[in-house]
Amino acid sequence: MHDFAYLRARSTGEAVQLLARHQPGAHYFAGGTTLFDLMKLGVEAPATVIDITRIEGLREVDASSRGELRIGALAAMSDVAENATVQREFPALSESLWKAASQQLRNMATVGGNLLQRTRCAYFRGGPEFACNKRVPGSGCAALGGQNRGHAVLGGSEACVAVYPGDWAVALAAFDALVDTVSPRGERTVPLRELHRAPGTTPHLETVLAADELIVRIRIPRGSIGRGSTYHKIRDRESYAFALASAAVALEIRSNRVADARIALGGVATHPWRAVQAERSLVGQPFTRAAARRAAELAFEGAKPLEHNAFKVALGIETVTDALMLARERN
Ligand SMILES: Cc1cc2nc3c(=O)[nH]c(=O)nc-3n(C[C@H](O)[C@H](O)[C@H](O)COP(=O)(O)OP(=O)(O)OC[C@H]3O[C@@H](n4cnc5c(N)ncnc54)[C@H](O)[C@@H]3O)c2cc1C
Ligand code: SF4
Repeated sequence: MHDFAYLRARSTGEAVQLLARHQPGAHYFAGGTTLFDLMKLGVEAPATVIDITRIEGLREVDASSRGELRIGALAAMSDVAENATVQREFPALSESLWKAASQQLRNMATVGGNLLQRTRCAYFRGGPEFACNKRVPGSGCAALGGQNRGHAVLGGSEACVAVYPGDWAVALAAFDALVDTVSPRGERTVPLRELHRAPGTTPHLETVLAADELIVRIRIPRGSIGRGSTYHKIRDRESYAFALASAAVALEIRSNRVADARIALGGVATHPWRAVQAERSLVGQPFTRAAARRAAELAFEGAKPLEHNAFKVALGIETVTDALMLARERN
């Protein structure tokens, strides 16, 4: 790993000022579970690392507002997964965190850092011998003609087909979460569904955040839809593995008809993917396995499989169908 300066911030104001002063080439560090990994691999090489772990007041799950749940960006993944309000009101959010990484990682890693993890594409992490537009803009994409079993079938471009790897952001996308940030230019709120960019011709630009923008909290609108939800994750191993396909699904059923439906996909798309057409197909209809299957197929309409990942379409359809059946049982 290369040499870097280490600075510690005690407040959000100090953090953004420090980062602005050391631009370009400065990074925040929360749990460090992604950042230091990428530094060891030579993918990230910050000249300055700004430790934000000692900032007070950003570790809580705050349920005091009737309208929304507020989760501090520095809350540990394990604490949010175990939080009783999160488990009761949004089982899918809790499950998305439980099913991510390992217990050691979840204890260390923060929910803010989790949103900004980078792809696990092996060519991106593999070093300079591999062409990768995300690592070196304009260098090409080794995955397009190479091993692309783990890559995206939705949202890819000629420049990049890497999957967004996180689970938490997929579950948040289902519930229209909001992300509050602060920077030297002030505060702003970004809808989670707009946080991650599609790769297009600029896959190195992964989010709409500026480099000096600090995520301070995540807000989730409270309502009855969250209670009948689940996060279903299919992976090569039962634990400690990223999703091949996942679905965050919520259903609200009244008088035997679907009053509201949420479906977001992970492991199959370049960014957290909300399947709006599939949701619409369910609303107002009686819920049946056949309707769930139709919705799941709609979620994958327009999918573009690559040489090695066509199985993700069939797997994704099964995953969404099963998730809808699980969510049905929670109504
Ligand atoms: C072996 C392994 C398996 C894993 N499996 C999974 C999995 O199955 N599912 C899953 O979802 N994740 C998985 N992860 C990823 C893990 O969850 C993330 O590494 C972790 O959540 C990142 O959080 P962190 O606090 O450690 O972030 P850091 O490493 O500290 O930071 C990550 C990035 O976010 C930036 N950052 C951090 N906090 C903020 C903030 N508040 N504001 C602005 N920028 C910020 C940093 O500058 C950095 O660029 C795995 C990781 C490993 C190493
Ligand atoms: S898929 Fe994206 S991250 Fe992977 S090699 Fe191609 S450009 Fe790089």
